[in-house]
Amino acid sequence: MRIASGGIRHETNTFSVTPTTLADYVSASGCGPDIDGGEAVFNRYANTNTIHGGYIDGAKSSGFELIPVLEAYAIPSGVINQESFDTLLNRYLERLKNVLPVDGLLLDLHGAMVTEKHEDGEGAFIEATRALVGQDIPIIVTLDLHANITPKMAELANVIIGYDTYPHIDMYDRGYEAATLIAKMVTGEVSAVQEYRQLPLITLPPMQCTLREPMITILKNLHDLEKQEKILTGTISMGFPFADVKDAGVSILVTADGDEALAKQKTDELAEMLWSYKDELQPDLTTIEDVIDFVNKEEPSGLTIFADGSDNPGGGGPSDGTIALKAMISADFQGGVVGVMFDPETVQQAHEAGVGNTVNAMIGGKTDDRHGETIEINAYVKTLSDGVFVRIGKMQRGLVENIGKMATLVVGGIEIVLASKRMQLNDAEMLRTAGVEPSHKRLLVVKSAVHFRSDFTDMSSHIFDADTPGIHRPDFDNYEYNVLRRPIYPLDQEVSLFG
Ligand SMILES: [Zn+2]
Repeated sequence: MRIASGGIRHETNTFSVTPTTLADYVSASGCGPDIDGGEAVFNRYANTNTIHGGYIDGAKSSGFELIPVLEAYAIPSGVINQESFDTLLNRYLERLKNVLPVDGLLLDLHGAMVTEKHEDGEGAFIEATRALVGQDIPIIVTLDLHANITPKMAELANVIIGYDTYPHIDMYDRGYEAATLIAKMVTGEVSAVQEYRQLPLITLPPMQCTLREPMITILKNLHDLEKQEKILTGTISMGFPFADVKDAGVSILVTADGDEALAKQKTDELAEMLWSYKDELQPDLTTIEDVIDFVNKEEPSGLTIFADGSDNPGGGGPSDGTIALKAMISADFQGGVVGVMFDPETVQQAHEAGVGNTVNAMIGGKTDDRHGETIEINAYVKTLSDGVFVRIGKMQRGLVENIGKMATLVVGGIEIVLASKRMQLNDAEMLRTAGVEPSHKRLLVVKSAVHFRSDFTDMSSHIFDADTPGIHRPDFDNYEYNVLRRPIYPLDQEVSLFG
């Protein structure tokens, strides 16, 4: 049995002013300048907690040959330049054509990709794949929990399997699940029948977190369903709200073994269950001033975290927002860390100055005018780093990453960790590689909405969701939606589940 795999992954924040180009894929994919398939994919992803890590082991245990043709990834940012997308898509299709015939396809996609021409980037990707391989070859698509799943995607894919968890710590498990299921579909051991339902509901990152209620209970319901007879898999996709596209928001899929009525019934049950929690999915935000007061007055024994999700590069934020940093400097806060901020110019300046010297730097606020102003500071250069590290937290464990040259600057009692590439701080190794041990600090401002919890929860005593401005701010009043389907809850109040 031969199964091809591949994908172009992106979470597109349509409110970002930073377009996504081919160069961003080359920079972030880690599969060489041509974004290779084959050995490059095995070398990068084998033994890692990633989708392809799961595909690779699932292929071994199910006894099929996995043929990766292209694995392209770029850090979340603005709409993808069409020429860049077409270049990657054509490269993928050309390579796929060269390995045909195959018995099935595993597509590693995100689910919230927008290009200049395609509001539904994954729909376009799967459609092009179908046009090449025909209707009879089974296709399983794995998607992020933040996928805005469209009717077109659900119709073109035999089965969609989304990540269950946020932080996304189950990528390997979902990849493995997809690989073992496709083997059973090819041999005819199972007959997968998928049902899809989109909900008139859109939700925000802090409360999509599956380490918190109500998502703990919602996920338990999903897992109980998956244990039932004739249910092959289920997905609750919470959606990516920072995209003004028609299909942004929540959707549910259930795949049963040969029983369409059962799949439909279970999809409806999950939809009703989730709908009953809709009012518990609203976040509660706290200002940096209140958190500084809290830490200074209460002196908690562990690390306090200010989750600056509004500026989260993992959802397209610039990661150079200065609101929290400015307030900490004004308060002369002691024992603080801010990271990881994207500021290649200041990193370069620090590398030129050298460790032990001071620089007069203009920090942050350079991408747009929605995340606070550039701050001028005199800072001490404490540490310089090449920015290469291996993930040891729960998310994508084992993956080698490169966030470009880094510098840790010190201003008063605050350490500022800067990098030359944008990347969400979701593994403490990102700070350690820049010489900072976060568990010894009093307050960490983290450029992440939720994923930091996968590695920082154990060392923290308190976590606050930030009340800061930005293009990833968890607050619907912050955005103007023109394309999103309506009515939708909570933007509209008069909404019923079944229309
Ligand atoms: Zn996600």
